[in-house]
Amino acid sequence: MGSIDLHVHTTVSDGTLTPREVVRYAKKKGLKVIAITDHDSVEGNKDAIDEGAAIGLGILPGMEISVEYSCGSMHLLGYCLDIESDFLKEKLEFLQGVRRERNAKILNKLRASGIALEYGDILRLSSGKQIGRLHFATALTNLGYSATRQEAFNRFLKKGRPAYADRFRFNPEEAIGLVLKSKGIPVLAHPCTLGSRSPKEFEALIMELVQWGLQGIEVYYPDHTDEQVHYYRSVAEKYGILTTGGSDYHGDNKPGVDIGVYNGDDQLSISLIDAMREFRGNS
Ligand code: AMP
Ligand code: FE
Ligand code: FE
Ligand code: ZN
Repeated sequence: MGSIDLHVHTTVSDGTLTPREVVRYAKKKGLKVIAITDHDSVEGNKDAIDEGAAIGLGILPGMEISVEYSCGSMHLLGYCLDIESDFLKEKLEFLQGVRRERNAKILNKLRASGIALEYGDILRLSSGKQIGRLHFATALTNLGYSATRQEAFNRFLKKGRPAYADRFRFNPEEAIGLVLKSKGIPVLAHPCTLGSRSPKEFEALIMELVQWGLQGIEVYYPDHTDEQVHYYRSVAEKYGILTTGGSDYHGDNKPGVDIGVYNGDDQLSISLIDAMREFRGNS
């Protein structure tokens, strides 16, 4: 169990605890600092910061955005953001609109596959702020169309399956620029999802991302093997960027993942937070 967790979702995106609940849960678990990293939204940060101030838990304002990338799946984390930035708000509102359009397409595709799903079945599972594929997976499972959420992704929702619908994503340079312009620290999330790449290709990608302004790699992550942790850390060190980590906690929506638990949780210390603030100051 680490003392910090820099990757946490709430009901603002596809987690099951509200921002205040997640902060109280993290405190109960003995954590000192967490980052709220909802998909395409910074809305949960305010409540989390308030609650954190009341009970004594540090909050790094953050978010996670999906990035256009052909090989696998690329997500970018943004930390220490200026959550009041009009520029950031406008871009995130745009991404919420893109999501709503994509969700309507998913629903239509499911219905075309003979699945009697109503929008209300999905809305009921969310806080009403944002709907993602995890909500669709839960609805499909609740209604008996799949045994597990994982099966719902494998049968219907993932790329190449009948109800997959693409959506606009910023390209890596734009996504990094968005975080930097919002005074944040851009960090590459869970590099294990980038798809199989040779070390040479991976390094070439990191080099390119660093040129655009990437400032860290999420090295410590539940799905990373010891070898991956070691390798990603060596690449971060080589390029002089931050080594971060987090659990990608989603509450009951991701059973088996608990807050503060990730491969390498004993290696991340609270001093990273100072290092991040320093990085932000230098950028
Ligand atoms: P969205 O951003 O709405 O496309 O949903 C992406 C989210 O769905 C990810 O952040 C994960 O929480 C979840 N997800 C994506 N792919 C899978 C998968 N194959 N199995 C389980 N959950 C997944
Ligand atoms: Fe998610
Ligand atoms: Fe992610
Ligand atoms: Zn995440």
